[in-house]
Amino acid sequence: SLEEKLQLVRNSIKCYPDFPIQGILFRDIFPLLYDPKAFSAVIDLFEDHLKNKFPQIDLIVGLDARGFLFGPVLAQKFGIGFVPVRKKGKLPGPTLSVSYSLEYGQAEVEMQSDVVQANQKVIVIDDLLATGGTLAAACELLNKVGADILECLIVIEMKALNGIKKLGSVSVHSLLQY
Ligand code: AMP
Repeated sequence: SLEEKLQLVRNSIKCYPDFPIQGILFRDIFPLLYDPKAFSAVIDLFEDHLKNKFPQIDLIVGLDARGFLFGPVLAQKFGIGFVPVRKKGKLPGPTLSVSYSLEYGQAEVEMQSDVVQANQKVIVIDDLLATGGTLAAACELLNKVGADILECLIVIEMKALNGIKKLGSVSVHSLLQY
């Protein structure tokens, strides 16, 4: 059942206080991949949600780096393609980029400029929503090419950081909330 699958996912996520720096409670999703039942539960939950909500999806867009673990597997379930949004300087050829501010300093995300077409219906995926800066920057990239962002899909939403606010009108679906 849905609740059993969610429980399996919840039980596989490990917490590490003060990683990578003091004051951050790091939620590690890699144990999900170590347990094949838990990993297929995540993929099933994402797939069922999307099937019930969207009649047509053209592409899955995943964020560097842990969005790359879930995105391509999910894309295969729908028989559609996967596109990476990467940290600056990793993608060859013509790219589009968006910079955004972190707590300290700046970051930049990039996407190859010829892979997503205007009006394509896309789902954006990542492991965790914290401040929402990364996901919002990825959505800005997709808006530049005129993609139709159906929804952002994440495993874990850190409610207290209110990252959803940064995403404006883009809808976000998470499996677990803390
Ligand atoms: P943000 O842009 O603040 O929403 O940060 C999101 C990105 O940072 C995600 O791709 C996460 O993988 C990573 N991240 C941020 N906070 C955490 C955390 N507490 N535990 C694990 N990963 C995190």
